[in-house]
Amino acid sequence: MDIVIGHEENKEKLKKMIESNQIGHAYLFVGKKSIGKKLFAVEFAKSILCDSSVNGKYCDKCESCLTFEHNSDFKIIAPEKDAIKVDTIRKMTGEIILMPTKSKRKVFIIDDAELMNEQAQNALLKILEEPPKYATIILITSNKDKLLNTIKSRVMEIQFNALSNDEIKKILAGDVHEEALKFANGSVSKALDFNNDMFLMANSIATVMKTKNFLDINRKMEELKNDKKYKSMISDVLEKVMFIFYSELKENVEFDVNMISYIEECLQSIKRNGNVDLALDMLLLNVCNL
Ligand SMILES: [Zn+2]
Repeated sequence: MDIVIGHEENKEKLKKMIESNQIGHAYLFVGKKSIGKKLFAVEFAKSILCDSSVNGKYCDKCESCLTFEHNSDFKIIAPEKDAIKVDTIRKMTGEIILMPTKSKRKVFIIDDAELMNEQAQNALLKILEEPPKYATIILITSNKDKLLNTIKSRVMEIQFNALSNDEIKKILAGDVHEEALKFANGSVSKALDFNNDMFLMANSIATVMKTKNFLDINRKMEELKNDKKYKSMISDVLEKVMFIFYSELKENVEFDVNMISYIEECLQSIKRNGNVDLALDMLLLNVCNL
């Protein structure tokens, strides 16, 4: 579980369960989307199935560890078209009652468990009521309200908290804007979306600037200024545009090198007096040679 970033308390708790051979039959991993619950569950499963785990950690050397990805004693159930159907759960329960073949135990993960309809949940309930002694089922959810109380009363709930900004930075290897972290609110995919959106915005500005069409550029600038998301980070977007132009310069001999100095001027102007509107107007006039 150590490759998972964050969630230290849960790591300790679950490692102890493996170490003391008190692995539960059913867990419910609860927490918002995209904070590492699934990776955690997979790592937990690998540790459970390991033949010679040390201090609750898998060894990565035994047969079970080396063939983990193809281990028939391990399975992840994921929704199809936003639903986990009763047939899927019935198939799973049919498999889980068969003795493990490769490991001492069997682990099944149900991702986005809230997407099981009532019928599917009732089918799952049957196996939760009388689980085979070697079986562990891990339900993962970001919305436990959608699970039946009868299910919730038969699982051990493990709460996952949102990631800290430092943890997100660590996962995304550093390149995350402060605004993206605020927007992400502890979720990695949201931080990634933000970075991605910002790049798309910069890219479309670069494209329209190259046309030197006054009206089109003006429209794009308005769009940038009016998007609340970029309010305090227009300079960051423009820096990305400049970066795009630099790479353009390397590849395209006909690229107008002045475009880069116009953006530089614009950035300096924003830095000097903080008047974004004025700086962008000047940029527009310069680019269109007006
Ligand atoms: Zn192992």
